[in-house]
Amino acid sequence: MQKIIHYWASGVLLLLSVIFSSSASAAPTISYRLSMPEPHTHYFEVEMRLEDFRGKNLDLTMPVWTPGSYLIREFPKNVEAFQAFVGDKPVSTSKLDKNTWRVASGGKDVTVKYKVYAFELTVRTSFLDASHGYLNGTSVFMYPEGHKDLPSTLTVVPFKGWSKVSTGLAPVPGQQFTYRAPNYDVLADSPIEIGNHQVLSFESNGVKHEVAMYGDANYDPSQLTADMKKVTEEAAKVFGELPVNYYLFIVHNLPAGGGGLEHLNSTTLHATRTAYGTRSGYNGFLTLVAHEYFHLWNVKRLRPIALGPFDYNQEVYTNMLWVSEGFTSYYADVIMRRAGFTSEREHLEKIGSSITSVENTPGNKVVSAAESSFNAWIKQYRPDENSYNTHLSYYSKGALLGMLLDMEILKATNGTKSLDDAMKALYDEYYKKKKRGFTDEEFQKGIEKFTGRSLDDFFRRYVFGKETPEYNAFLSTVGINLTDLNLNTNQPLLGAAISTSSGKPLVTIVTRNGSAWKAGLNVNDEIIGMNGYRVTDDINKSVPAYEVGDVLEVVVSRSGQLMILPVTLLKDPTVKYRADLVSSLSEVQRKAYQKWTSPK
Ligand SMILES: [Zn+2]
Repeated sequence: MQKIIHYWASGVLLLLSVIFSSSASAAPTISYRLSMPEPHTHYFEVEMRLEDFRGKNLDLTMPVWTPGSYLIREFPKNVEAFQAFVGDKPVSTSKLDKNTWRVASGGKDVTVKYKVYAFELTVRTSFLDASHGYLNGTSVFMYPEGHKDLPSTLTVVPFKGWSKVSTGLAPVPGQQFTYRAPNYDVLADSPIEIGNHQVLSFESNGVKHEVAMYGDANYDPSQLTADMKKVTEEAAKVFGELPVNYYLFIVHNLPAGGGGLEHLNSTTLHATRTAYGTRSGYNGFLTLVAHEYFHLWNVKRLRPIALGPFDYNQEVYTNMLWVSEGFTSYYADVIMRRAGFTSEREHLEKIGSSITSVENTPGNKVVSAAESSFNAWIKQYRPDENSYNTHLSYYSKGALLGMLLDMEILKATNGTKSLDDAMKALYDEYYKKKKRGFTDEEFQKGIEKFTGRSLDDFFRRYVFGKETPEYNAFLSTVGINLTDLNLNTNQPLLGAAISTSSGKPLVTIVTRNGSAWKAGLNVNDEIIGMNGYRVTDDINKSVPAYEVGDVLEVVVSRSGQLMILPVTLLKDPTVKYRADLVSSLSEVQRKAYQKWTSPK
């Protein structure tokens, strides 16, 4: 009996130890509940249940920026009423820094509640009003410090009467509006649209695609989905596969707007609600679709090494946004041509205008594509009156560099390979095989595999340097010739942008080294008169009536003080490129052109 008791006791001990150890080693779990009982007040309410987190304290962090939009946005500024409970009992909380809250959990399961003010309707932020809710996870959800890798579930409780929730998160079967995220990165990278929006759908490459349409707009649903299908299929051809099993477009149709933000298996787009009715507006929307969809590969998967996994607490630096954004912009135009939405002439005009725009921006001679990428955090989203003179968008310069490298590969391979092949090979090597981002050197090497020669000179001069490329030397590969229509003109140019509001013409930009710059015209000067006459309009309109060398007596009011500035008109230094196909393409040029514009 004693022996039996002994066995019995040790059995209990064993059982207890199993229970204890399984309890001690249970993986911590996180579940979020998102509600919006008073949407007109613009507050989302978040309840976060954290179980099996051991340790005296639990630290919760909210990101300060959102991936894809390289600016510190300080999302925690919108958090209020942060509280924590063990059971029903409140426990003490404190803030460790601007975006971290400490909960004195005492090793117990905790429920955290807070509210987030959401009244900024951009693709990068969150918004809630009586008509709908939209959120980016980075600006609403916190994560327990050190546990970004943990899976979580999210239950959305829409405002009463709202029947739809659209998100790229995987639904939990049998539980309405409940989703699971394998880690915080996925939760943060899956925006959510909540309300009574219209949901369109189409299939592309065997995968369900949905379009959550908020706001009325003049689109034809069946035409739009048919055209979006074409765009998505053309984009997927570049990489030869679609790396998702569901894709969501969230579209906000607004009185005015444009732009988008890419996510893991979704994107948010802002569109002008009347734009679908014109060819340029409609093609503009499809180009945006092409751009954001191309990000599904370029940046969300094939990416510079700094861009994921992310540090949400601070800036992450890379020289390579000219690839991530620039190549994406370049491909959006190429895809639009390949899918037949733009004509050959329209595509050539786009090339001419893109080169014109970059070459006429004074900042192009001040910063390189690599510097522009690196400085995104302090420049790209913080334009001021001098940005035109000192900054150049890595989107526009990067798009040109993408085109030039495409030409290099087409030339080196006699039109048998293109940038498509290099992008696919880089995708296979770094995303699929190595499962990480690429370094600057690795990217260059990846392109060199297809040019068959060193690109050190190209990168030194055009990527890290500010030299102007000999465009025609590259574009002749596909038989394009660029002509500067301004070459033999001798027109004067003021070199100042003037904006008139309420009859007051105000200087908004003064171009570096232009006539106005040299004469001392300042941003914010109000133009009162010119050559003895009162002025109420933009004086740029009268400049063509003058000759180079003429002097304009410009009267301005600067901080209320009147002054006369003699402005000597200098020659217009700007270029105006027109791109044409040469009249007879050689066999090699024709092959390269074909590969470039209709590869499959
Ligand atoms: Zn982009």
